Amino acid sequence: MKLVVRRHALRLRQPLQSSYGAVAERELLVVSLTDEDGVTGYGEAAPLEPYDGVSIARVEAALERYRPVVEGAAGMNGAEIVDACRRVDDLPEAFAAIDLALWDRTGRRMGRSVASLVTDTPADRVPVNATLSALDRTGAAEQAARAVELGFDCLKVKVGVGDDAGRVAAVRAAAGPHAELRVDANGAWSVEQAVRSIEALSPAGLELVEEPVHGLTAVREVRERVAVRVAIDETAAEHGALTAGVADAVCLKISRCGGISGLLAAAALVRASGAEVYVASTLDGPLGVAAGVHAAAALASRGPLPACGLATLGMFDGLIDPLAPVEGKIALPDGPGLGVEPL
Ligand SMILES: [Mg+2]
Repeated sequence: MKLVVRRHALRLRQPLQSSYGAVAERELLVVSLTDEDGVTGYGEAAPLEPYDGVSIARVEAALERYRPVVEGAAGMNGAEIVDACRRVDDLPEAFAAIDLALWDRTGRRMGRSVASLVTDTPADRVPVNATLSALDRTGAAEQAARAVELGFDCLKVKVGVGDDAGRVAAVRAAAGPHAELRVDANGAWSVEQAVRSIEALSPAGLELVEEPVHGLTAVREVRERVAVRVAIDETAAEHGALTAGVADAVCLKISRCGGISGLLAAAALVRASGAEVYVASTLDGPLGVAAGVHAAAALASRGPLPACGLATLGMFDGLIDPLAPVEGKIALPDGPGLGVEPL
């Protein structure tokens, strides 16, 4: 099997400010795998260093180490190839790209969507949240009103980045009483700050608070002290986090889970522990977001699925969004494999 890796850069229309810093540009690695039969599958690596601590160069180096594994993989199935890559370099952000390309290749060869390879009854649409990037009250309120007008039921606001209370209240006022309001602190707070902040934001009516603090022990303490549902995101990478039962929901990402296979396995563990899962992108490109949509469509057939953080391609400048949400939902692509073309 032939492996090709190339870099691709995408610029955000407007930098996205989180408590870990601003992201203005994304560098992605697009991977292709071509078999002897000439069928090519495409995957993508989307490490986000300020979020996951993994640089693009680190992923490139891992993919080079996978090359002999992939090129000598005749006779191995997809799971065996991904396992072999993991043994060479255990970097989920890198072997995710191999996993995606293998799923895409199988789907293209069989003329079926990836979601339909996972389950007989994938959802045809996945609910997604709108992410409001404005840091000022007026801008955030305008974005909220626009999102509701477009049919989004769930709006997400980054917190731990300045005037949280004013911004969240302005968003609620603009969105009306029915929209779900999700806040994400990216672990900006201590336990005491989190409890105080969540109490201060609660009158706006929150669907859940994502990653109020980092670490299982701290999350457990916050959850015991606030009435709002708590989700983990970054902390889901901690050993034992998926079955720890410290949160009401767990945000899973293709990149951190090591691809579609890893995400589905993680979701099964989380659901067995009694928590909900939802899927989000790390500002992935089209292939990564498509992989998230296929995984989410499969998960929706097996249990409740809160709004997913997959409506992110519209944040890039000059990109025609092949997975544009309609009425707050992304339709499962029709085409075979992941159903989108590489950048
Ligand atoms: Mg998050």
